Amino acid sequence: MTIGINCGHTIGGAGYGAVGLIKESNHTRLVGYALMEKLKAAGVKVVDCTIDEANTQAEYLAAAVALGNREDLDWFISLHFNASAAHTGQGVEVYTYEGRQYQDALDVCSNIAAYGFKNRGVKAGTGLYVIKNTKAKAMLIEVCFCDNQADVDLYNRIGGADTIAQAIFNGIYDYVVKPEDMSAEKHDIPLEDFMEFVGEVARQDWLDRKIMLPSVVVAQAIKESARGTSELAQKANALFGIKKNGWTGKTYRKAATEQRSDGSYYTVDNTEWRSYGSWKESILDHNTYIAERSTDGGKTLRYGPVIGREEYVLACQYLQDLGYATSLTYAESLINDYIEKYNLTRFDTADDEIAPEGKLWIVQLGAYKSRNNAESFIRKLETMGVISMLKLYDTNEEASM
Ligand SMILES: [Zn+2]
Repeated sequence: MTIGINCGHTIGGAGYGAVGLIKESNHTRLVGYALMEKLKAAGVKVVDCTIDEANTQAEYLAAAVALGNREDLDWFISLHFNASAAHTGQGVEVYTYEGRQYQDALDVCSNIAAYGFKNRGVKAGTGLYVIKNTKAKAMLIEVCFCDNQADVDLYNRIGGADTIAQAIFNGIYDYVVKPEDMSAEKHDIPLEDFMEFVGEVARQDWLDRKIMLPSVVVAQAIKESARGTSELAQKANALFGIKKNGWTGKTYRKAATEQRSDGSYYTVDNTEWRSYGSWKESILDHNTYIAERSTDGGKTLRYGPVIGREEYVLACQYLQDLGYATSLTYAESLINDYIEKYNLTRFDTADDEIAPEGKLWIVQLGAYKSRNNAESFIRKLETMGVISMLKLYDTNEEASM
């Protein structure tokens, strides 16, 4: 794990930061160097991308980015303090490419806001030089407004730079720092442990965002990563084969195997795949991908029918029909080889309630004299995603449910 830290601006002349009640250039360094110490202490490799002097603003920016691009960074983090014309602006904000709502960027923002700063959110910083030109994923953090009395007072009161550095460290810890510690042991993780790990992350995210049914996520992860042993899982922390598709983070190159509609296979060399800091990040990004994938700028969502779908059979079938995988037996395999075989639906439900002895939970779907009415009820159920069977029931038979 390698993180580049840019303490924003130079310390004099061209590229110098804002001067409010406190000087931006001084405090980006206080926060940045405190953060670097915390990261190093946690075993993270830190690349200092700070530039103290430059002839022009453009030269300072280019030099900072060049330092970052010399290394293979997992994150490039640029630190700043904001200012506004009327000195009335307040709060913390984080910029990412196209405003990507990376969980660690969101956490950094809300951790700082938790001290009482207004949370201005994670925003599009696509036009910002360091965001646009760094090869790694980049976030630019505007800690608070250095020209606003209330913000500066609060910053001083909570402990200043060291507190902010800790808030940023905590924000990226789960996604960037911690997974590296675990990576040494993950090489040949038992299937049961792998299912539990993915299942718990998927279950929590289902409760939080309700995008992909956990049983389907776990089945896909086992199948696509050979339960975490694939080259992508080991070298790129990617449990799902998601191609680059607009991703601005790190990528990993390897060939892709695709299946034609006639069933034959072909290989595409040098395909770029998304690469992650951890398996957890891969699982969350996979769900985000399903929720956001669009080829017309978000007007229509490619996997719309999958999002929030509570029936695994339909979720799997829609994934295949909507082109998630080119394999013609993708859905069938997810269902038969994984979900049903390993009872993965246990990750779909919260706490279960078992009926007491002698009692059962019964689902009553309906009974009709008219076949047409029965079929119309089936069609209505289908619009709600329920698959039901039509069976001529013998009323002379004892009900045996
Ligand atoms: Zn700045």
